[in-house]
Amino acid sequence: MRADFRLAVLTLLCGSALLGVLPFVWFRFSQGQSAAGIVDLGISVVLLGVIVHAWRGGNIDTASRACVLATAAGCIAVTWLAGMAGVLWTYPLVLGTCVLLGRGLAIALASVSIAAIATVAVHTGVLLPGSPVVMFVATSVLAGVLSLLFAERARMQHAKLEDLAARDALTGALNRRAMNRELQLAVEANQRHATAFGLAILDIDHFKRVNDSHGHEAGDQVLVDLVALLQGAVRKLDQVYRMGGEEFVVLFTAVDAPALPGLCEGLRARIEAQLHGGDDPITVSIGCAMLQRGEDSGSWLARADAALYRAKRAGRNRVEQATAGAPAQPA
Ligand code: GH3
Ligand code: MG
Ligand code: MG
Repeated sequence: MRADFRLAVLTLLCGSALLGVLPFVWFRFSQGQSAAGIVDLGISVVLLGVIVHAWRGGNIDTASRACVLATAAGCIAVTWLAGMAGVLWTYPLVLGTCVLLGRGLAIALASVSIAAIATVAVHTGVLLPGSPVVMFVATSVLAGVLSLLFAERARMQHAKLEDLAARDALTGALNRRAMNRELQLAVEANQRHATAFGLAILDIDHFKRVNDSHGHEAGDQVLVDLVALLQGAVRKLDQVYRMGGEEFVVLFTAVDAPALPGLCEGLRARIEAQLHGGDDPITVSIGCAMLQRGEDSGSWLARADAALYRAKRAGRNRVEQATAGAPAQPA
């Protein structure tokens, strides 16, 4: 619950709403008010279902919408049947709505809930028309606005943190962690929809010499320039990752198998023509591999790596294509 803020809010809101509504189920039926009892029972079942669904790893968006709708219905019903207790429930309801739902839906549902509860409260005489009901609406709206500001800020910071955790600090390219995740997604998309994926591992040739001759900072600048060049050269669909050190991966989406070596050759030639470490041209060796049907990401990477190894052994500054089947063992 500490890690998943929405699950925590959802559990607290549904759990306390459930505790608030459950006694009324018994109370209504014991008083012979079966209609009200059935409404309370229905709300309790939805709230319990939402908690179970969310905790069993179900879709948190669906659970959030159901939680907010059930709590809002509960609030309106309790205001109708028990007066002030329902009115006071508006505040946690508005807070939960703003934290659990996206901005547009949250504003719409919170406004409808506040308006409905205010109308029922005035109709049943719980709140007097005029200043009491205006104060109720004003304070609930303020609670909603503050919750929305807080929730939006938390969402923004969460997105920023996720982006930071996925990127390499020096070059801004996606890091190995992001690469592993996205290669896995590619394998799943290939199995489900037969989308064709290719990948290339690029390793800068004799990079140690750049550091030795021009210093570590010049080496760093080469890495930054290489990523900028690659990102400018690949299509929007394709992605560039820093796998580690001076090794990079390009993931090509929806690429034809015969086109892959040519695309890699284009990248190699562009790097040789445009990238420099001091005055020296920089070259890369590339191993590329198409994802095979039924193959996992580890084997796919290993085949591309074996091809890269062959490119190095064959003299560097060249592209080698992986063989199909099991990865070749480096000699
Ligand atoms: P090869 O052609 O066989 O790939 O030779 P190489 O010199 O590129 O390969 P090697 O593995 O011997 O050396 C890689 C070098 O990359 C060593 C390491 O200092 C350097 N390196 C790794 N990460 C960074 C970095 O972030 N910045 C800089 N400046 N250098 C780095
Ligand atoms: Mg290397
Ligand atoms: Mg190298």
